[in-house]
Amino acid sequence: MKFFNLFKKKDREVLKLACFDLDDTLCAMGPIQAETEALIAQMMHTDLHALHLRAKEHHAKTAHSIKSNSALEESKPTLTTILRTFNDVKRSHIHRDRDPILFSRQIWYKETLRQLNIKLSLTKLKELSVKYEKAYWDYLIPRLKLFPHTLETLRELKNQGMTLVCLTDSDGEKGIKLRRMAYLGLDAYFDFIITADDTKKNKPAIENWEYVLQHTGMRAAECMMVGDHPEIDLIMAKHCGFITVWTKEYLHSSEHFNYVDHEITDIKDVLKIVKKYQ
Ligand SMILES: [Mg+2]
Repeated sequence: MKFFNLFKKKDREVLKLACFDLDDTLCAMGPIQAETEALIAQMMHTDLHALHLRAKEHHAKTAHSIKSNSALEESKPTLTTILRTFNDVKRSHIHRDRDPILFSRQIWYKETLRQLNIKLSLTKLKELSVKYEKAYWDYLIPRLKLFPHTLETLRELKNQGMTLVCLTDSDGEKGIKLRRMAYLGLDAYFDFIITADDTKKNKPAIENWEYVLQHTGMRAAECMMVGDHPEIDLIMAKHCGFITVWTKEYLHSSEHFNYVDHEITDIKDVLKIVKKYQ
């Protein structure tokens, strides 16, 4: 029995590093994101309505036919069309593109305007997409909320001497993500904040976890990855040799995957898992 225990202890690595995804793992991004997207769609609708009126006046002045005016009327997008188009654009990028810049809201809004077939000069297109991106983050960031036990969990892990890493996809540029983390007061807890802007590839590219190992000097068996999206956050982490934890605090699911070692419904349960590996 004694021999067995010794063998078990030697066989099992002590956990030294906890790596966390950010959105819907440490903070609730989903609901505020939907609210922000609706707000920007409304803003876009107002702008396009104003542009439409201006074009109509121009048509009237230049005495264009009634037919061209009605064609103009038909081209005016509704709020639903704007929202649907933006969602299609977002879905075509999120969790698909590996290039970090393609997670830029500015790019998503530019594509939305293009797909709505609004005739805009390149200058106006740029001006509007920059404006929407700024309005998006200015509205969303102050309304972001951490999950109730996020800070106490990170504090306790820090007290235990764990190395803490945040590994998160890009928002198009690293500064935006850092601004978000500073607002949430998370930056003080992490030894490393790694975004896809550093690794040059969005998750689930394996380079993200390789980057964590290279920059922390840890071995994968000493590391744990915590995330809300198994296919994005955990499958490649497992492939590298990390212990994987699926947090279902934001989205409950009855699914299970063989590459997920542990499932939790409250971020503070990470502490119980860490105990098992000490
Ligand atoms: Mg997430």
